[in-house]
Amino acid sequence: MVSIVQRTLKTCIPYVGTGLHSGCRIGMLIRPGEVNTGIRFVRNDVAAGRGVIPALWHHVVDTQLGTIIGNEFGISVSTVEHLMAALHGCGIDNAVVELDGPEVPILDGSAEPFVAMIDRAGIVEQQAKRWAMLVQDTVEVHADDKYVRLEPCPVTRITAEIEFPNSAIGNQRLSTVINEAVFKRDLSRARTFGFVDQIEDLYERDLALGGSPRNAILVDGENIVNEEGLRFHDEFVRHKILDIIGDLALAGVPVIGHFHGYKPGHALNQALLRKFIASDHAWSYVMLDEFEDVPGLRRISDALATTANRMKKAWSRLRVVA
Ligand SMILES: [Zn+2]
Repeated sequence: MVSIVQRTLKTCIPYVGTGLHSGCRIGMLIRPGEVNTGIRFVRNDVAAGRGVIPALWHHVVDTQLGTIIGNEFGISVSTVEHLMAALHGCGIDNAVVELDGPEVPILDGSAEPFVAMIDRAGIVEQQAKRWAMLVQDTVEVHADDKYVRLEPCPVTRITAEIEFPNSAIGNQRLSTVINEAVFKRDLSRARTFGFVDQIEDLYERDLALGGSPRNAILVDGENIVNEEGLRFHDEFVRHKILDIIGDLALAGVPVIGHFHGYKPGHALNQALLRKFIASDHAWSYVMLDEFEDVPGLRRISDALATTANRMKKAWSRLRVVA
């Protein structure tokens, strides 16, 4: 059962870990957040007042190797997607993520350690109803043979398909409804992955400096370098779905609809989210308790539509500022 009210952490989560790209040790403290404030990142190693970055789509500044968000002072945080997926997957609406460096620690390359930390910290319900974006019209983005699409669906569902020449990965396809149980059991443990023949190039660009088989699946042609092997036979496509959850979480509220991706990636996911939110006809805000009372997508009440429109105007203004 999906919560109809907003939720945050019961206690703080302190952690120190390594950044995948910077290789730096980074201290992190995740704190409970006030209602309607969403997920916000705060860089504590920069001048006070300059380090706040809301985890929203219009703060995305780069998507080459992970999702990077930034603010008007040029301050950024890299690799937010696995933590965003964990927070969203566990149904956390509001939280403050303090960091003393430029990157979220990579942990084991999946979202599972974040989920374990969230479970230990506990979750509390808050005195505010939860909003969602209801997909009302199909929006699609193409790039070469790749595409990602959001289409109307009464529940959140993700279908992803990947196609790699390496026989260790090959063609993998998975379609699943997304809820907390599915996220924790089937998706959170899937690790990020990299290719041996690309490592030198990444090192030369000062990227993946913290990468190792401890925090990624390493693929060498038809072989998996990691001694422990895979956690799922289709761990790669599961991780792609984990990334999609993290990227979609930058909508700020749950998105109710079917995300369909062929060879999806952070850049395409973000392009789709921007196009979707900018398309007035493509979505409406709904309050989750009222949505659940409605026996069908078309019967959203007038009152709800009015509120949704007011919220959309607020978002449009935000877009202009961004
Ligand atoms: Zn990832």
